[in-house]
Amino acid sequence: MTQTLSVAITGASGRMGQTLIGLVNASDKMTLTGAIERTGHAWVGQDVGEMMGGGALGVTVTDDAAAALADADAVIDFTAPQATIAFAALAAQAGIVHVIGTTGMSEDEIAALAPHGEKATIIRAGNMSLGVNLLTQLTKRVAAALDTDYDIEIIEAHHNQKVDAPSGTALMLGEAAAEGRGVKLADVSDRGRDGITGARKSGDIGFTAIRGGDIIGEHDVMFAAAGERIILRHVASDRSVFARGALKAALWGHGRAAGQYDMLDVLGLSD
Ligand code: NAP
Repeated sequence: MTQTLSVAITGASGRMGQTLIGLVNASDKMTLTGAIERTGHAWVGQDVGEMMGGGALGVTVTDDAAAALADADAVIDFTAPQATIAFAALAAQAGIVHVIGTTGMSEDEIAALAPHGEKATIIRAGNMSLGVNLLTQLTKRVAAALDTDYDIEIIEAHHNQKVDAPSGTALMLGEAAAEGRGVKLADVSDRGRDGITGARKSGDIGFTAIRGGDIIGEHDVMFAAAGERIILRHVASDRSVFARGALKAALWGHGRAAGQYDMLDVLGLSD
């Protein structure tokens, strides 16, 4: 029998956590060996499959992340920034693959991952879908081809429970557009317009966030000039696109040298 990849999932009760558990369980390349929730969570001590409303999966939800990661080849983590930093330390201790989908991390929080990337194989992306990673490459190319007569605006829409804005994906797209233009996003980013803002500054990259209902994730990159607009659009209609990308990343990372990677590396889309 071929060996399968042992996978632990953090934030097991979350929207992404449950989607990931369903897909890992259905995969013949992976075995679910850990489901992690925080201490005091109602799911701790219960079978994760039953908590998800299905049959027992034989995996008890635990709040002992260190033990769960010590038994795993990979941990897939879609939680919150501080939790992700703590999981990174444990993944480094265990020397395993750490797939990070968590968004909303500050520059300091991202920097805090660096020492852990010396011992764990970290794959982090604000969006794990093939479509969005292709879109970042297209965005970079279009931004490189057009001058600042084309105003770049990134418009994103998500469900009403999302806690960070702009989305990790919008920021990825903004970085790609800035890279295409040969500028630093931090120098040209225009966020949260309100009131008498004055005219738009040429060369800025603008962000708009829509929040409502159960929208899974929609992103437009608009290049607007006098007389024409080009709009590159991605619409996610099922969370499994992100989860499938995360599973692919875990398999890709297994056996690879410690370090920090992203989905462009996994998908072979890096320049
Ligand atoms: P969610 O439904 O709120 O789930 C988050 C899970 O993380 C919950 O189980 C939550 O537990 C747990 N959690 C939060 N803070 C924690 C902490 N400090 N310690 C331990 N566990 C903690 O959110 P979601 O929609 O699944 O999204 C999760 C993250 O993934 C967000 O950052 C989101 O933006 C990101 N995301 C990324 C992609 C991508 O492709 N990269 C795609 C979709 C979503 P409690 O219930 O106890 O709070």
